[in-house]
Amino acid sequence: MAMNRRGFIKNTTLAGGAGLLGLSGLTLMLNGCAPKEEEQDVGLENFPAYARLEEKGELTKRIEQAYAVMEACSLCPRQCGVNRRKGEIGFCQSPEKAMVFSYNPHYGEERPLVGSNGSGTIFFSNCNLRCVFCQNYPIAHEGKGHEISDEKLAEIMLNLQDRGCHNINLVTPTHVMPNILNATRLALQKGLTLPLCYNTSGYESVEKISLLDGIIDIYLPDLKFMEGEEAERYNEAEAFDYPEMAQEAIIEMHRQAGDLSTDKHGVALRGLMVRHLVMPNRVAGTREFVKWVAGNLSPDTYVNIMAQYRVEHKAFEYEHINRAITPEEFIEAIEWAKEEGLTNLDGRSLEQYERLRHQLNQR
Ligand code: SF4
Repeated sequence: MAMNRRGFIKNTTLAGGAGLLGLSGLTLMLNGCAPKEEEQDVGLENFPAYARLEEKGELTKRIEQAYAVMEACSLCPRQCGVNRRKGEIGFCQSPEKAMVFSYNPHYGEERPLVGSNGSGTIFFSNCNLRCVFCQNYPIAHEGKGHEISDEKLAEIMLNLQDRGCHNINLVTPTHVMPNILNATRLALQKGLTLPLCYNTSGYESVEKISLLDGIIDIYLPDLKFMEGEEAERYNEAEAFDYPEMAQEAIIEMHRQAGDLSTDKHGVALRGLMVRHLVMPNRVAGTREFVKWVAGNLSPDTYVNIMAQYRVEHKAFEYEHINRAITPEEFIEAIEWAKEEGLTNLDGRSLEQYERLRHQLNQR
């Protein structure tokens, strides 16, 4: 079922109602930057992406291809080779079925995702990276959650749509990508029209991201580390290849979805949004990160440089990351991004930067 422009506008109006319309000016003001001209029109006749693929008869093929990968699992760069369809378990500890911890409208995500009615967030259990400082470790490390069928996952997507959410935000989706594709098709047949947001740690294989071409509208990857040694030290996957894998995958995501496009209310429709968590003692390589974005993506890439690092899970055991970041560390991160000419920095991060600068100037 393709959604034409009229269908999209009707859906947006029903979902957001007067609240959404009332929010538009405020959203743009708070974001710190007005949308560009081209953001007013992103070809809504092609929205959402997966509906077009279904029209062409391609979605079923992608689902089959994705489930075939699970039979000698190489859904992520770990390439465990286990047959998850026969009950074998790899590093991520995931069974064949998806496991979900919770699903709800989420108001803590980036403003273009949250809009007025929230981002329809589905938290998947388990993880293929497992950072030692994980803030969701009961879900990601301990696998808290319940196995569900793809039919149930489709119902969850439709439930979030019924609750007015602006997108389906798939948190830690890599190891359950086939389940997500199948559920999306089932939900599409029952009226799903929301864009999918692929909210990933970034530890992805570029070939598997290629399978998502024409399905995912919004990519939301982390780029956590720029050096293999740091990546290897701070996650249980000991992923020395994390920077290389994540960078290749993000370039492919950008090729597929482009820079972020929003509707006239500032709500995300399609495109790439990159997250980067500033860590103590420059462990995350923030200077290299902003240079890489400017040189390999686009200066207009939506970038969220985040200040909320906390000493969680096992982080207290590591001397370089066993404290919060300082105001100076966050300020230098934002200033590096500005020096590199990045033009679309997250609005809340910029506000925090201004607050911290003001506080330091008062001292
Ligand atoms: S998704 Fe899980 S089983 Fe598959 S390769 Fe990655 S870690 Fe291994």
